[in-house]
Amino acid sequence: MAVKERILVIEDEVSIREEIVDWLIFEGYDVFQARNGREGLAVAKQERPDLILCDVVMPEMDGHEVLLEVRSTPELVDTLFIFVTAMVEKTNVRQGMNLGADDYIMKPFTAKDVLDAVRSRLAHKATRQQELQIQIGSMEDALQDERRQAMLRSQLVGMFSHDFRTPLAVITMSASLLRNYEDRLTPDRKKEKFDQMISSTKQLTQMLDDVLFVVEMGNIDFNYRPVWLNLSEFIRKIVVDYQDLFSETHQIHFVSRLDKDVAVDPKVMRQIASNLISNGIKYSPRRGEVWVSLDRVDDMLVFEVRDNGLGIPEESIDTLFEPFQRAENTRLIRGTGLGLAIVKQALDLCGGRIEVSSQEDVGSEFTIYLPLQTAPSY
Ligand code: ADP
Repeated sequence: MAVKERILVIEDEVSIREEIVDWLIFEGYDVFQARNGREGLAVAKQERPDLILCDVVMPEMDGHEVLLEVRSTPELVDTLFIFVTAMVEKTNVRQGMNLGADDYIMKPFTAKDVLDAVRSRLAHKATRQQELQIQIGSMEDALQDERRQAMLRSQLVGMFSHDFRTPLAVITMSASLLRNYEDRLTPDRKKEKFDQMISSTKQLTQMLDDVLFVVEMGNIDFNYRPVWLNLSEFIRKIVVDYQDLFSETHQIHFVSRLDKDVAVDPKVMRQIASNLISNGIKYSPRRGEVWVSLDRVDDMLVFEVRDNGLGIPEESIDTLFEPFQRAENTRLIRGTGLGLAIVKQALDLCGGRIEVSSQEDVGSEFTIYLPLQTAPSY
C-alpha cells in the first residue's frame, strides 16, 4: 500500500472495537478508534480519516447523528461512512442509508465481512476519483483550448486593425497619385503604381483568406472536404498568378509528376500552396528563384516549395509553426506570422505533416506530405 489509508472505528463495545481495529491494522491501514459518537466526531475532525466504521446504537450521540454531523462538516463531507449494526436494527439500516451512508455491515460479522466492505468502498472511491481527475483534465484542456482560441482571435483583431492599414494606404495613395498627377507620371512610374496596387490588393486578399480560414478551422464543424481534382493544373494556376505578379523580381519553376486526379480539399490546398509560395518569394532577394514541385511517393502526396533566399536561423525553426512567431532575420520584412501556423493546423486536420530544412543565406525547403487518394482512372 503506497499511501496508508486512514480508518476510524467508532464503537462503544470494547471487545468488538478492538477486534475490528486489530483486523484493520493487520491489513496495513492506519487506524484510529473512539468509544462513542462524540469522541468519534472529535477524532474525525482531527485525523480526517478516509473511512469511518461506526456503530449505530451508542449512548450520548448515536451513529445517525454522527453521520449527519460528518456530512455537514465541510472537511469531512466526502469521508466514506459504513455502519456497523445488529440484525434487529434493520429499519435503522434503511434510515442510515437514506441519510447518506455508503454501506453497512450486519453483526455478527467476520473479519472478511469487514475487510471486504472496507476494501470495496475504498477502491470504489479511488476509481471515482480517477474518473473525476480525467474529467477535470479534459475540462482543463478544453478551457486552455478555448483560452488559446480567444487569444488568437484577439491577436487577429489586433493584426487586422494594424496590418490592414498599410496595404489600404498604399492603394489609396497610389490611386490618388494616378488620378491627380497622371500627366506628370512617366509610363514606368504609372506601371509601378498599378503594380503596387495589385500587389497590395493581393496581400489584403491573402490576409482576409487567412483570417477566415483560421476562424473556420476553429469551428467545431470544420471538415476536410476532399473532391477529385487535377492538382497539377490547380497548383500551376496558383504559380502562374504569382509569377505574373512578381515577373520582374522572381522566377518560379513548377514541375509535377502527378498523372492522376487526387482527392484533396481545394480550399486547404490553396492555403498551403499560396502561403508557402508567397513565403518563398517574400524571403528571397530580387532575382530569387522558387521551385515548386508535386509528386507521389508510395501512398503520399508530396508538395515541395524551395527557395534560394534568406533561410531560417536554426533556433527559430521549431517555433515557426506557432501563430505569430517570426524569425529574427526577417523582422524587416512585413508579415503576420500566421501563414505557417495555418498550414500546420490545416495539415493536422487532414492527417498530413510538414517538414522544413533550411540554411541561413542559402535557402529553405518546405515539404508537405498528405495521405493520397487517387482517382481510379484519369
Ligand atoms: P509571415 O511570413 O507572415 O511572417 P509565416 O507563418 O508564413 O508568417 O512565417 C513565419 C516565419 O517563418 C516568417 O516570419 C519567417 O521568419 C519564416 N519563414 C517562413 N518561410 C520562410 C522562407 N521561405 N524563408 C525564410 N524564412 C521563412
